[in-house]
Amino acid sequence: MGAEENRRQKPSLAVIGTGIAGLSAAYLLKDLYRVTVFESQARAGMGAHSVDYVSNGISRRIDIPLRIFCRGYYENLFALYNHIGVEIVTSDHSGIFADEAGRVMLHYGNIQWGESQISYLKGRSWLRPAAWTLALQSRRFFARAKRDTGQVGLAQISFGEYLQQSDPGQAFVGTILLPMLSVTCTCDYSAVLAYPADIMLEYLTCGIHELGIMSAAKGVEDIVPRMLVDVDLRTNSPIATIEPAGEQLRVVTRSGADQCFDQVVVAAQAQQAAAMVSGFDERRALLNRIPFERSSMSVHTDQQILPAPAKGLSPVSYHVPHGSSRAEVSVDLTKAIARLSGQETVFQTWNPMRRIAPNRELARVDFTRPTVTRDSREAVRALQASQSQPGNRLWLCGSYMAEKIPLLEAAVDSSVAVAEQLGAAIPWRAGTAAAN
Ligand SMILES: Cc1cc2nc3c(=O)[nH]c(=O)nc-3n(C[C@H](O)[C@H](O)[C@H](O)COP(=O)(O)OP(=O)(O)OC[C@H]3O[C@@H](n4cnc5c(N)ncnc54)[C@H](O)[C@@H]3O)c2cc1C
Repeated sequence: MGAEENRRQKPSLAVIGTGIAGLSAAYLLKDLYRVTVFESQARAGMGAHSVDYVSNGISRRIDIPLRIFCRGYYENLFALYNHIGVEIVTSDHSGIFADEAGRVMLHYGNIQWGESQISYLKGRSWLRPAAWTLALQSRRFFARAKRDTGQVGLAQISFGEYLQQSDPGQAFVGTILLPMLSVTCTCDYSAVLAYPADIMLEYLTCGIHELGIMSAAKGVEDIVPRMLVDVDLRTNSPIATIEPAGEQLRVVTRSGADQCFDQVVVAAQAQQAAAMVSGFDERRALLNRIPFERSSMSVHTDQQILPAPAKGLSPVSYHVPHGSSRAEVSVDLTKAIARLSGQETVFQTWNPMRRIAPNRELARVDFTRPTVTRDSREAVRALQASQSQPGNRLWLCGSYMAEKIPLLEAAVDSSVAVAEQLGAAIPWRAGTAAAN
């Protein structure tokens, strides 16, 4: 049988969305199905917002957002990147925390010690008793969190309740812990505190401090084509509805074009998926229970956002005004990302609260991102149960569909689960048919 005839004999499957969930689902299912991928934007979603940055005669593409990860929490992502040949490098994300007046509250660096990283106080922080108190409270908090992780009952309380019970010190919580987690989860402090405690502790104790931060050496433009193999990609194709059509599902674009598929994987965010699924009222109601928050990211060269003194800073600067609902966080990409190191200083600032000079801004992008509560977790479990019903043809994946912080790992985890339910073997899982 020829390759084209073989392809035509396979059942048809649509994937909606090309974030990492959609890309990994398409990649894992392409051998069993004739896969068509729909994306509303002009480029595959993971790389849809990237910008070119030219300085010092060098041109490099900057991913927005920058996607970092670590060993210990990103098991599926590492396995996937390894399988498709993505090169991974370490990335320094040590930080400096400053108040509304730019006064430094804590400044730390990281040194590599074999496979591990060790943090140390930097600059004048070494001389400030308040910085030592923060460092000590941090140490105590992480030691206790490690002891508490896995304990029964943590799923029944929020992270805020856990902090009240464990009392790690207000200064540490307000200055370091909440600002760090607000950027990790890209949400307000109140949403961080509403996370189930077990999910937050699992992340905080995964080894992120000891094992360090990593990123894909060549960025998204190297990753996306490795996953879009043997599929029919349709960009600029926003999907309006997905509805039952006999033994199939009909996928209708906003321009009115329609096509029927044997299976449909919706890999858009929950609120986007809810707007698409027609005739699936129960699932729509469950999807509408997944909360999400909005935030924006600026890529710019405006050094005014740095705390004083601007020399010798760590790559990540936290601006933590008293009484604000989330931090403003700037990453100096030339310090954090090896492939940008030869260029003029350029920042990625999440949640810019202060003015960034318009002539220094390369891009500003708005995002939505799911958060997790005890209620959303119940909704996700009900959605997972609905996919296990015999004859199901509508599948949901995305970072909200796993019991984890909605990061890249949760997105890949969810697409692995859907691919397995659709009969695909997961190449990096021992014992599955495709393990070769
Ligand atoms: C500012 C920021 C920084 C982040 N940094 C990190 C990080 O450093 N590390 C990390 O692990 N995670 C990070 N994340 C989280 C990470 O980006 C998400 O977990 C990941 O993108 C989720 O992937 P996804 O495929 O589930 O969803 P998405 O990436 O949101 O993809 C959904 C896709 O569906 C498409 N779509 C939506 N509606 C339609 C429609 N009607 N028709 C067709 N297509 C549609 C969208 O255009 C999009 O391409 C960050 C998130 C943000 C917002």
